[in-house]
Amino acid sequence: MDFPDDLMHLIRTDEPLGPLAWLGIGGPARFFAEPMDAADVQRLVAAAQDQGLSVRILGSGSNILVREAGVNGLVISLAGAMSSEIAIDGTKMTVGAGAKLSHAVIKSVGAGLGGLEHLVGIPGTVGGAVVGNASAGGRDLGSVVSSVTVVEKDASIRTMTQQEVGFSHRKTSLVGLAVLDATFQLETREVLALTKRMQKLWISRNSARPTEEPRIAMPFVDPDGMPAKDLLQTVGLAGLTEGEVALDSQHPHFMVARSGATSEQCLRLIERVREQVLLQTGIDLQLNLQIW
Ligand SMILES: Cc1cc2nc3c(=O)[nH]c(=O)nc-3n(C[C@H](O)[C@H](O)[C@H](O)COP(=O)(O)OP(=O)(O)OC[C@H]3O[C@@H](n4cnc5c(N)ncnc54)[C@H](O)[C@@H]3O)c2cc1C
Repeated sequence: MDFPDDLMHLIRTDEPLGPLAWLGIGGPARFFAEPMDAADVQRLVAAAQDQGLSVRILGSGSNILVREAGVNGLVISLAGAMSSEIAIDGTKMTVGAGAKLSHAVIKSVGAGLGGLEHLVGIPGTVGGAVVGNASAGGRDLGSVVSSVTVVEKDASIRTMTQQEVGFSHRKTSLVGLAVLDATFQLETREVLALTKRMQKLWISRNSARPTEEPRIAMPFVDPDGMPAKDLLQTVGLAGLTEGEVALDSQHPHFMVARSGATSEQCLRLIERVREQVLLQTGIDLQLNLQIW
């Protein structure tokens, strides 16, 4: 498999993905690249397309489960320095896909711009949050998106409006595209009030997660009208274990991986949870976690 010479300095082969995923599980990427700018992303996508290679985009790895077989394609990491700029123009804020969502939240609050503060404490990059339409407290990120710049599958760059992206509950039409940046339409607010609100949310969100556990994921989307946490408690699945993977006993909407955990164990646990929830409540729990 040959990439053009001018891309070879960006390409690594057999790059382990486990250390890049929060769950700490997973085999290597056959090809792995950390582009320096948007033109690199375009050229990487075009080269992969030419060679019939599949492309996956990696953010901070907080919402992926990688199988031990790894990825037989090209993984492009957009969590690097290339795309972490944040620029404010009036009430609009444009953020590179690689910026941490928490940095974008803190920056907006410091500038007296409201609309992102409810997302404080959600791990990951702005790109990952936009693609998955991250949400918290009943409000999603998509509601404040004004536009999103992407590299399309044919390697062209396109700016999409909020309507074109089509945000719905933890879903967008952006899957398979590379998000380069997003512009948010925010509202002027008092900095002190915003800061207090953000701090309060930060504290309550931190206390609602297994802070001692470094290898965690939030596998399920909250079904309509009920947080997944309450549903899993009610159904009696807190602490459910499969090998070295378990639902946390206090916060069962989090899956915790211990040393020796495998992707098979994660997938079996997820399946058992979905079966039990369906059997006992008729609710078909949807996956938030992306399986690679
Ligand atoms: C402790 C914890 C708490 C969480 N709390 C919440 C919560 O409250 N609300 C919530 O919605 N989620 C939550 N999540 C899930 C996760 O943090 C979010 O989904 C986050 O937005 C993922 O961002 P990431 O950069 O880590 O994406 P990754 O895990 O790297 O990728 C996730 C998906 O997004 C795609 N992707 C990433 N970046 C790009 C890009 N630039 N262009 C195109 N595709 C891209 C990937 O291909 C993959 O399909 C939580 C997860 C954890 C571990």
